[in-house]
Amino acid sequence: MREIKLKARAKINLGLDVVRKREDGYHEVRMIMQMINLYDRITLRRSTEPGIRVTTNLPYLPVNEDNLVYRAAKLLMEEFKVTVGAEIELQKYIPVAAGMAGGSSDAAAVMVGVNRIFHLGLTKKQLMERGVKIGADVPFCIMRGTALAEGIGEVLTPLPAMPHCSLVIAKPKIHVSTKFVYGNLKASELKEHPDIDGQVQALREGSLEQLVAKMGNVLETVTVPAYPVIDEIKRTMLKNDAMGAMMSGSGPTVFGIFEREERAQEVCRLLKKEGAAKQVYLVRQ
Ligand code: ATP
Repeated sequence: MREIKLKARAKINLGLDVVRKREDGYHEVRMIMQMINLYDRITLRRSTEPGIRVTTNLPYLPVNEDNLVYRAAKLLMEEFKVTVGAEIELQKYIPVAAGMAGGSSDAAAVMVGVNRIFHLGLTKKQLMERGVKIGADVPFCIMRGTALAEGIGEVLTPLPAMPHCSLVIAKPKIHVSTKFVYGNLKASELKEHPDIDGQVQALREGSLEQLVAKMGNVLETVTVPAYPVIDEIKRTMLKNDAMGAMMSGSGPTVFGIFEREERAQEVCRLLKKEGAAKQVYLVRQ
């Protein structure tokens, strides 16, 4: 096998709680992670010329070690002393710096691909153990599916997938840095916490209603006051039959959950027309 094509899927957080800030500065979280049907496409090729070469359709993304796909390939190729080269072609569709783990998912897909194309023989668990060195979300992106994530996000308990629905994914025209969000979060002063255990139960029972009723993201306490457009998009979704709408991860992407696909399509049209969102996707889940 000389070439392999991979799909790197985005995630949303159906629930995101911050338990506390640890002494080392990291935040301890409890999150419901759901992989969704929106993906980047990656082509990975073996090459006789040593080294790693990255190309991408987004000119502003780095193609050197600052790109997580480069780091992912390097991590495994160095450990296993791979002497030939790797070419990575990355086609981005997942909104960048958006709270959807796009970079982490690309890295996860490349680790899976490098393992296969160079016959490294690592198990999924072994890949996940290495993935955390690239980022806290990478182990989940290797595992895929649905999970409760604890610790800094790397302690994973697999869960049943969320019930079928249509999702509207809307990334506003703003840039929100993860550092800003966690830096301004007052973890010890949070008055409300989402019912993460209730969401675990809802997933086990297959109840979309209960899952949505218990949705919550404590990071909205930082982002919504600073960037009102996030709340605007949520309100547009909720006014138009969304069962629930919430910011994913540290944002600024907002997702809405719809029972009926036609309504979701309508909301996509509306959001594009209003112009509050820069990227809008309809995802069947
Ligand atoms: P998370 O949900 O884990 O917080 P995110 O959606 O906020 O992730 P990413 O899209 O993964 O953020 O990327 C954040 C930054 O990382 C970007 O500004 C970009 O320059 C850099 N980056 C490195 N590699 C990639 C990649 N493969 N895809 C996207 N961004 C990348």
